[in-house]
Amino acid sequence: MSDTLAHADPIDGKAFAAGLVERVSAAVVRLKAKHDLVPGLAVVIVGEDPASQVYVRNKGERTLAAGMRSDTHRLPETTTQAELLDLIAELNADDGIHGILVQLPLPAAIDAAAVLDAIAPDKDVDGFHVVNAGRLAVGQPGLVPCTPLGSVMLLKDVLGDLSGLNAVIVGRSNIVGKPMAQLLLAENCTVTVAHSRSRDLPALCRQADILVAAVGRPEMIRGDWIKPGATVIDVGINRVPSADSVKAAEGRTRLVGDVAYAEAAAVAGAITPVPGGVGPMTIACLLANTYTAACRAKGLEPESLAA
Ligand code: NDP
Repeated sequence: MSDTLAHADPIDGKAFAAGLVERVSAAVVRLKAKHDLVPGLAVVIVGEDPASQVYVRNKGERTLAAGMRSDTHRLPETTTQAELLDLIAELNADDGIHGILVQLPLPAAIDAAAVLDAIAPDKDVDGFHVVNAGRLAVGQPGLVPCTPLGSVMLLKDVLGDLSGLNAVIVGRSNIVGKPMAQLLLAENCTVTVAHSRSRDLPALCRQADILVAAVGRPEMIRGDWIKPGATVIDVGINRVPSADSVKAAEGRTRLVGDVAYAEAAAVAGAITPVPGGVGPMTIACLLANTYTAACRAKGLEPESLAA
């Protein structure tokens, strides 16, 4: 095979996510038929941030489309922390609500960590609660953050057994990098977590059979940082000026990941594009987590949602 033809397989997160949503929707139909149980997701948004408004509308529509109950609570920017905590307490006590999601970012006057920790852990479908972080760390069943959960599903779909593979994760946030490390450890990978203080990041990345980029820096990871044939999961979502200078001058933008896609695709074995890679898995896993939370609330074993 000629080297010039070497090109990674794009990992079609959009198609995989559509399949997962279909499996969740079918499981929800059976849950209703057998147990008269409809999973319910409450999404809380505070303030008018336009991007957050779009995300919340999208989540509501997708939840309904999957056959679940969707409640959206829109609160004004002036909402106090006490008012928000009162709403969370009400939702915690509501038997028809199995998942609670507070859209981030919250206004600066509100302590986001305190709000997230007020959500009942068994309804914490984002998986951000300290109890769920602890459960993941010790290998107990809990609710796992959606983006890393979806990323590992894609990896298993592409690679099958991940045992013994070297995984390098660039980024150590509580919502992506750290839970990703726990999930890959549980899959028996040898895991390295890199961050802004890591030395010789390119050399670390070159050791990776699985390279996960969760940095938030556009196209930081270059093609020559990638081991030939590696599987690359690009979690990053960065808005940059359009590549077309005329459109850029008009203020038009495009989305890019944390990995320089064209360079990386020439070396990697498989890679997630941005958009259309990890992004669609996040909402699909939110629906899956809501289904799982509803089953557990009634003492039922959730059906397997594996492909
Ligand atoms: P954070 O900003 O919370 O964390 C970024 C991490 O990257 C930190 O650990 C930081 O290190 C590390 N980092 C920053 N600069 C460098 C550098 N130069 N070299 C090495 N490491 C560096 O981001 P998130 O984890 O929340 O998100 C990461 C990306 O993923 C973003 O682009 C975000 O938009 C995207 N995202 C996408 C989602 C999806 O649905 N696809 C969902 C969530 C996030 P340190 O800890 O030392 O500061």
